[in-house]
Amino acid sequence: MSDIDDIKNKLSVEELIGEYVQLKPAGSNKKGLCPFHNEKTPSFMVNPERQSWHCFGCAKGGDIFTFVEEMEGMEFKEALRYLADKAGIQLSNNFRNEISSNEKNRIKEINTEATRFFHSFLLKMSGAKLALDYLHNRGLQDDTIEEWKIGYIPEQWDLLTQYLMKKGFGLEDLVGAGLTIKKDNANANSGQGFYDRFRGRVMFPIWNVHDEVVGFTGRILVEKANSGGKYVNTPQTLVYDKSRVIFGLNKAKKEIKTNDLAVIVEGQMDVIACHQAGMKNVVASSGTALTEEQIKLLKRYSQNINMSFDMDEAGQNAAKRGIGIAVAEGMNIKVIRIPDGKGKDPDECIKQNKNIWFESVESAQSVMEWYLEKVLRNKDIHDPKQKQKIVNDFLPEVALIPYAVERDHWLKELGNKIGVDLEILRDDLKTVQSRKPAHNASPDKIGITDGEKVKSADNLKEEHEIKIEKSRLEVLLDRMFALLIKFPNLLSNLPEDFAKYLSTAIYEAIYQGLKQEYNVDKLREVANFADKENPIDILQMKGEWEFANLSDKEIKEEMEKLFVLINTEWQKNRRKQLQLEIEQAEKIGDKNKIGILLKEFGEL
Ligand SMILES: [Zn+2]
Repeated sequence: MSDIDDIKNKLSVEELIGEYVQLKPAGSNKKGLCPFHNEKTPSFMVNPERQSWHCFGCAKGGDIFTFVEEMEGMEFKEALRYLADKAGIQLSNNFRNEISSNEKNRIKEINTEATRFFHSFLLKMSGAKLALDYLHNRGLQDDTIEEWKIGYIPEQWDLLTQYLMKKGFGLEDLVGAGLTIKKDNANANSGQGFYDRFRGRVMFPIWNVHDEVVGFTGRILVEKANSGGKYVNTPQTLVYDKSRVIFGLNKAKKEIKTNDLAVIVEGQMDVIACHQAGMKNVVASSGTALTEEQIKLLKRYSQNINMSFDMDEAGQNAAKRGIGIAVAEGMNIKVIRIPDGKGKDPDECIKQNKNIWFESVESAQSVMEWYLEKVLRNKDIHDPKQKQKIVNDFLPEVALIPYAVERDHWLKELGNKIGVDLEILRDDLKTVQSRKPAHNASPDKIGITDGEKVKSADNLKEEHEIKIEKSRLEVLLDRMFALLIKFPNLLSNLPEDFAKYLSTAIYEAIYQGLKQEYNVDKLREVANFADKENPIDILQMKGEWEFANLSDKEIKEEMEKLFVLINTEWQKNRRKQLQLEIEQAEKIGDKNKIGILLKEFGEL
């Protein structure tokens, strides 16, 4: 058995996809909201028995490998390594060589090795005593230092670079990992001109959500004039993009899901302090305002966010952009306020009294209430100019909410506070909304009546996806065969010459197979033209998706209706075709042929 089959056998497709999508039973399959396009009714199906998945909204589909590639933006070799680790499978030599031929994988290995180096230096070397004292003084316990693999690198020119080179890593890869800096006059042969990015710093590894170290934050231990900033971070690399990483998510994701709440704080030390204090659903956005990618990542685990940020003007403005994105994504945001004098950040607050921090998180205020309080503060609601200012400041925040009922709720609240009629505010909101780009404009579900064409992602492995548009006839035939595969007895209701409607070899193969009463496995064999998704798998899931709850009578009606539509569509196509042929025959003056074609045209 190949490694790939081995991995597929060990991992369950529903568990893997279940980490990202809430799946509900649908016949023998599972269904959920597609993670690849916006929708409100589920058209994303998972077939546990076949270990496959398919979305009938955006036509993506495949196996666990294609899912991870799509979802995580991984290349095949990365997905292979990731899933092999998850399945606890040792890859054979061929595959191992393949994998380390991938630069991203090499960088991750370098980061892992560097983490080990920093961490054991901190714990074992006498030269690290000052660093260890610093961490203890900041209130970190030894098992916390262990859990977060915090480390130290002394103030030397190229200690880490030399160490990693001895371990067999190449200089270019060390530069690629962001750990080594290359001077302009560097010489790769002699190693001259290469030096460590992190020197004399306490080192905090940054993990991605899959427990892989993708970068580091280094905090200076003894600040000097030339030490280059209190904090130094890994620059953008092939594996580290700070707008996509959420610090602590690998350790917090389970608790976030269990509590259905993510607590977002500003600093890495805040995250670590919270976890140490026993609040483990806490993450940080790595020193940037929350980005759309980060929100989408969090949304896999919970729709609810309680946020703590610096309450000064700059801190509020920085937080506001991220909050706007999260609100537009339909997340429920609350704002955590640490009482005055109880610490400027969670870390300080916990040191003073951890109960106060827990209470502050518990009593967080809805972000809209918070905005409303903010715009009303120090305003005279009897002054028309100030009143207008309040409305102007608040409505853009309301406009971001994707749900109409919720928007209306906040308009009422505002109206009550400043004594303005609700209708006026609704009109004003429309003006504000018309200035915003529409969100989630993609169609929800493509049925046979409202979708002339559906897109089908043919080969997901290609760098650039090749999308093939299906004709209306093919959409109808797909639906018919989904029905026939689910209810093969219906076949006898079709006319003898049904084969004439079939536009591709795949349909013909399935039709012949059904006529010979093949079981599904045999059908799969004869219809196996494509190399990735078997059409029978897709049609089977489509059957479960569309026809699971129909009565016998409805099934029969559905089939009759479909046949009429197929016939009409086929005739329309055939007429077009005949017209073309007649025109051509007229051009060359083939009277005989014209006669035959006209006869067929008349009989249609
Ligand atoms: Zn989809």
